[in-house]
Amino acid sequence: SAAKLIDGVAIAKQIRDEVKAEVSEITASGKRPPQLTVVLVGSDPASVIYIKNKIKACEYTGITSDTIRLPNSITEKELLTELDLLNNDPNVDGLLVQLPVPDHICERTICDSVAPEKDVDGFNIMNVGSFCVDAESFIPATPAAVMQMIKRTGIETFGKNAVVCGRSKNVGLPIAIFLHGDGDRGNLAGDATTTICHRYTPPEQLQVFTKTADIIVAAAGVPNLITADIVKEGVVVIDVGINRVDHPDNNGKSMLVGDVDFEGVSQKASYISPVPGGVGPCTVAMLMKNTLLAYKKEIHFAAH
Ligand code: ADP
Repeated sequence: SAAKLIDGVAIAKQIRDEVKAEVSEITASGKRPPQLTVVLVGSDPASVIYIKNKIKACEYTGITSDTIRLPNSITEKELLTELDLLNNDPNVDGLLVQLPVPDHICERTICDSVAPEKDVDGFNIMNVGSFCVDAESFIPATPAAVMQMIKRTGIETFGKNAVVCGRSKNVGLPIAIFLHGDGDRGNLAGDATTTICHRYTPPEQLQVFTKTADIIVAAAGVPNLITADIVKEGVVVIDVGINRVDHPDNNGKSMLVGDVDFEGVSQKASYISPVPGGVGPCTVAMLMKNTLLAYKKEIHFAAH
């Protein structure tokens, strides 16, 4: 049986259109639109492309945006001063620092220096701690995208077996938090029995888990990690991987692939998300949703 495609481009458009409709209502009532400010340190080519996609989504939805480009040589202290200005700027609703930052700057310090109520990436430790205890928070865009793709496709997670491959703090870990979480407490939580696999999960153990999984979320950054022989018939597969590999034509070109052998796994899965055109576009759309939430000041943090 051939799997149904989870069309990330279509779901992303649906989400962007919801944001766009709300932004038009805001501007029609005479108020200024939401504003997203992105800080880029240096000129990492992948970061430049990611930011371009974010700005395009802002333009589509009517959110205003600004990219602040800072030199690679900037000190951590100077960057913190810049963030302080933006945190205190009432015209900035959403604020994010595009990762990675250069090695001489501490990523954790930077993430924690974006004001929690402007932290549309959900990387501030206040946000991370809040969603871990089912309190109000911004939900990082990639986990939010994965959960939206599951929910909007009508995939049941309640009581199912889910496997997440990858435990990164910004992607794998929060995905597992939402998949296993208590649906009575968090509206995105999936109530699935969730297993987290990572780089030290031996391949023979990985397949013990993936073979009993109803839902597999692959976020390991390993091409062909998930192949048809290690999944069961009818599995739902969400591919979060973004890997640049040589083009099979051997023409010197490269191409993007996920962590899943799409051709093979499609023959067994009930639903599968492609790369490109899956999680990526939905992630950008969820960032727009978070920026709108920041504008509406809908996320409240306990006094700290
Ligand atoms: P991202 O932030 O996109 O999740 P990272 O490169 O930061 O990507 O993290 C990759 C994650 O994938 C790590 O948590 C790592 O332990 C995990 N990982 C790497 N190799 C494997 C593997 N063979 N099986 C399962 N998980 C893996």
